Amino acid sequence: MAAAAIPDVELSEIDQIEPAQETTCCIVGGGPGGMMLALLLARRGVKVTLLEAHKDFDREFRGDTLHPSILEILDQIGLAEPLHRLPHNKIYGPTFQSGGRSFAPIDFRRLKTRFPYILLIPQTKFLEFLAAEAKNYRTFQMRMVANVGALIEGETGVCGVRYQSTDGWHELRARLTVGADGRFSKVRQLAGFEPIKTSPPMDILWFQLPHLPGDEHSDRVMGGFGNGRLLAVFDRIDYWQIGYVFPKGRYQQLRAAGMDAFRKSISEIEPRFAKHVEWLREWNQCSLLSVESSRCPIWHKPGLLLIGDAAHVMSPVGGVGINYAVQDAVVAANVLTVPLLNRDVHDRDLAKVQHQRETATRVIQKIQSAMQTRLIASALQWQGTLEVPWMVRLFLKIPILRDLPARVLAFGVKRVRLEED
Ligand SMILES: Cc1cc2nc3c(=O)[nH]c(=O)nc-3n(C[C@H](O)[C@H](O)[C@H](O)COP(=O)(O)OP(=O)(O)OC[C@H]3O[C@@H](n4cnc5c(N)ncnc54)[C@H](O)[C@@H]3O)c2cc1C
Repeated sequence: MAAAAIPDVELSEIDQIEPAQETTCCIVGGGPGGMMLALLLARRGVKVTLLEAHKDFDREFRGDTLHPSILEILDQIGLAEPLHRLPHNKIYGPTFQSGGRSFAPIDFRRLKTRFPYILLIPQTKFLEFLAAEAKNYRTFQMRMVANVGALIEGETGVCGVRYQSTDGWHELRARLTVGADGRFSKVRQLAGFEPIKTSPPMDILWFQLPHLPGDEHSDRVMGGFGNGRLLAVFDRIDYWQIGYVFPKGRYQQLRAAGMDAFRKSISEIEPRFAKHVEWLREWNQCSLLSVESSRCPIWHKPGLLLIGDAAHVMSPVGGVGINYAVQDAVVAANVLTVPLLNRDVHDRDLAKVQHQRETATRVIQKIQSAMQTRLIASALQWQGTLEVPWMVRLFLKIPILRDLPARVLAFGVKRVRLEED
């Protein structure tokens, strides 16, 4: 079941505010970035309170991919093994298909890591897992249905937040407030940060199709091209998770053409889904992702830091959003644990977090943008089947070059490790 949208809250003067509570680090948002940062700080003894607007972690589909870099980080704190005990699937790379031919450019199995695959696990389960782990530390507190609507600003900068819960408004004072509240970040807006946006040339409809008797399981992400459409297919063991990519802004046109035309265009790209598409009956079985990519020029001000999608929204190319949010959290924990334990966090410490993460973010966004304009945009314009350019085939035959895309996808531009004494 999809989680309810977060209502926009306004704090009026007549609202009753409970006496202030206190913490050292207030994290707004229990997504992969916020949850991971809360866990890493709590296990080092930092008093941390996480505020999450929803009542649980059940949410609309927002990606299930845990890259090797996240698995290595979890392994550092002894959590990779317990995570692997949850139901999951492993993906070793993408296979693209067009006109009956297939092409598998990336194989994670060649990477030097204990975890040469992407682990597919529902994001809800991953977040519940991190939350359960964080609850083992007495310095960790989590408030669900805590919708942040205002920042508290003092002489030294931001010193906490006001949030609305079922029983009214509350104040939480903190040395540091972290905005990990996602692509529509309220904290970012309240802090007055304006992201620089780019608009990739596509939108995506996400939906599920059932696994039918006789379907073979797949340990690859299947990418199909054809007739100006692109399909990404993930095997989720008991169902197929499908991303249907189409030119930006054409959703209404797609709907106007009708469900029959939609089903037909899917089975034209993936003929083996001819039967499965009968399960698609209503448009509300699909969720629309209006693809965007953005980055804030500044991620911090005194008392406040942004991480994850709040600081930079990633295009879905390569599915790196969760990876980058978690890596931000790890770097923030590396840099800020000691200042937070000493209750002495300076703006220069926050600047260090941005400095350590910004280049990696810019580079991956440039790579995504090049792939979008050179490959995806032409695939979405092209009405026939596609041939893989000879230069790409040549590149992937050269041993020292062929694993570069896999490494960048698996670890990001720079491998991030947890630094603990
Ligand atoms: C349809 C879709 C498919 C995607 N597929 C993939 C994929 O395959 N792989 C991948 O890596 N990435 C994918 N992404 C991107 C990925 O979901 C994000 O990059 C990632 O979740 C970012 O993590 P985050 O912790 O920064 O923010 P989020 O995961 O967005 O978490 C933010 C949290 O903050 C909470 N919140 C928001 N406002 C407030 C408030 N005012 N007060 C309190 N709490 C608040 C929200 O409820 C939410 O729980 C996808 C995204 C979408 C939308």
